[in-house]
Amino acid sequence: MLRRTKIVATVGPACSDPKVMDRMIEAGVDVVRLNFSHGTPEEHMQRAELVRSLAKTRGRAVGVLVDLQGPKIRIGKFKDGKVNLKDGESFTLDADCILGDDGQVGLDYKDLVKDVSRGSTLLLDDGRIEMWVEEVKGNKVICKVIRGGALSNNKGINRKGGGLSATALTEKDVEDIKTAAKLKADYLAVSFPRAAADIQQAREILRAAGGKAWIVAKIERAEAVHALEEIVDASDAIMVARGDLGVEVGDAAVPALQKKMIRLARAKNKLVITATQMMESMISSPIPTRAEVSDVANAVLDGSDAVMLSAETAAGQFPVETVSAMHRVCIEAEKEMEPPTFSEQAIAEGILRVDEAIAKSAAFTALHLNVKAIAAMTQSGSTALWTSRISTHVPIYALTPEVETRRKVTLFRGVYPVNFKPSSQMRDQLLAEAEDELRRRGAVRNGDLILLTIGEPIGKPGGTNTLKIVRVGDRKKT
Ligand code: PGA
Ligand code: MN
Repeated sequence: MLRRTKIVATVGPACSDPKVMDRMIEAGVDVVRLNFSHGTPEEHMQRAELVRSLAKTRGRAVGVLVDLQGPKIRIGKFKDGKVNLKDGESFTLDADCILGDDGQVGLDYKDLVKDVSRGSTLLLDDGRIEMWVEEVKGNKVICKVIRGGALSNNKGINRKGGGLSATALTEKDVEDIKTAAKLKADYLAVSFPRAAADIQQAREILRAAGGKAWIVAKIERAEAVHALEEIVDASDAIMVARGDLGVEVGDAAVPALQKKMIRLARAKNKLVITATQMMESMISSPIPTRAEVSDVANAVLDGSDAVMLSAETAAGQFPVETVSAMHRVCIEAEKEMEPPTFSEQAIAEGILRVDEAIAKSAAFTALHLNVKAIAAMTQSGSTALWTSRISTHVPIYALTPEVETRRKVTLFRGVYPVNFKPSSQMRDQLLAEAEDELRRRGAVRNGDLILLTIGEPIGKPGGTNTLKIVRVGDRKKT
């Protein structure tokens, strides 16, 4: 059974064994995420190559998403690797401290002293540790521990309510964007953007380096929530980055924001990934909790293009089982999902282009006629994207000779890449070969209706202007 929601899996030490990676792909990984907060450019290049060669052997397309570290503010290292902080004690964050102890620790961001003042709340290690700023003195931020606990090397720091001035792209990010271009990433995720300008800047650097990746804006700062519309407009996709977002805006605000963000992205013809802690307990357990199952199912019901795994596959004990569990939960949630009717599907932005009009007409038609498949003959993938912004239960096959487009559509909900190199550019021959291809895959049988979108004259990119409805097998009779 085809799963509509896609699975993004972060790679790391837990799946560096090619056999494990291969089983993860077999279990249903559509896109791998290379987390540039860890590892070297060489390691990431090798991982991308490995994934692509394994996928090729299986006759599959797997996308590659490069996730930039961004200006994540982190503490330095401790003499003993970690300390145990007690409630009520004093603790100092000091950019000049080399090795920390139970009274102080270093910091990779000198400007923190400018961004906070007495009364600010700082959250460390995804909010597990909470500190209240008592005083800022020179390069030192002197805090009182409100909620203590174990704190280990290089954990992240957030300010409650947002307001850290660090720019979205660090020097390391600029170098990493060049690596992303070199390894031909399909997607580039920008961490901690505050405004559309951050996305535009990343896109410019990427294009200058020759990269063609689509840009994913990670919504994980309070400022980004306020600038959501302009950030969505400037991006190709967004990520509901619930880890840092929950720390900045408060965990309880996240579920409603998730729904709002997914709705907005889809209405604006953009992609959306729901991420972080989806199957967290499976880092060390072979089965998920009921709450995790519900969370993944709800992300599916909300309309996510993809659900993402982080430490579960990068560093967990059960990477393959986690992907299988996610696959099973998505399939089951999708079964229960009634597609919304024509009138419920608002298109906020209206339809502006001919190719978009054809793409959406195909989807609307599929809501009414009993159609088995939509076949989009596409160069760039745009037709498949627009078709998939309308929810139907009809699979959308993106038929394209372009390998980069096949990798790109791996993230689109309900869209499946098909390598299609027709032997002729003659319209009738092309349609016949598309029909045969779908039949060969078992997607359709004689008597089924298919919707085909094509551009005429054939072979001109961006020129989709024709919707053709055919009954499989009929052409043979004439
Ligand atoms: P991260 O981003 O895993 O890179 O921190 C996702 C999130 O914050 O949820
Ligand atoms: Mn984050």
